[in-house]
Amino acid sequence: MNICVYGAASDNIADVYKKAGEALGEEMARRGHALIFGGGASGMMGAAARGVSRGGGHITSIAPSFFDVDGVLFPECDEYIFTDTMRERKQKLEDLSDGFVISPGGVGTFDEFFEILTLRQLNRHQKPIAILNTEGYYEYMLAMMKNASDLHFMTPLNFDLIYVSDRVEDVLDYLENPGDMFHGISELRDLK
Ligand code: AMP
Repeated sequence: MNICVYGAASDNIADVYKKAGEALGEEMARRGHALIFGGGASGMMGAAARGVSRGGGHITSIAPSFFDVDGVLFPECDEYIFTDTMRERKQKLEDLSDGFVISPGGVGTFDEFFEILTLRQLNRHQKPIAILNTEGYYEYMLAMMKNASDLHFMTPLNFDLIYVSDRVEDVLDYLENPGDMFHGISELRDLK
């Protein structure tokens, strides 16, 4: 599969997250999956790319040309696709990928997650979406979504469109066989 990994550009994050990103990348390569990502050399993006690279997997960077300056892009990608804008880049990431992992990130990652989920909700694609919830990073976001659902701003059916786990193996198992696994909803019911 071509798996798109979204995640933080910030390098100023705890090692536990980077280690999880690297483990995700290594396990992807071991299973024969290719990485499609925003091309960043730092943070969770760099961690996932290092893992895939270490495992000998294929890496495609999709980034706007203005990121093509020293140190921003991961230097060992097999392919570099440049776009004019961030929007075009997001579209290409979506088009070229068979499934999506949302790893811990900031506003750029939130934007990518909510766009891909919105498009799934509207049946614009049928590709699986999994959240890598390392150290429970996404609990607050999931609680916000649960609140939106409780107050009827969002249908609870959206929870059936995402899978949530802190284990990279489970996240990849889900992307490979989305029909076979429990969805995030069972965990979300427990959120206060
Ligand atoms: P953030 O979560 O705010 O760090 O933004 C990360 C997301 O936005 C990534 O998934 C990328 O697709 C994109 N992005 C933001 N900054 C960069 C960067 N320096 N290099 C590559 N992509 C970036």
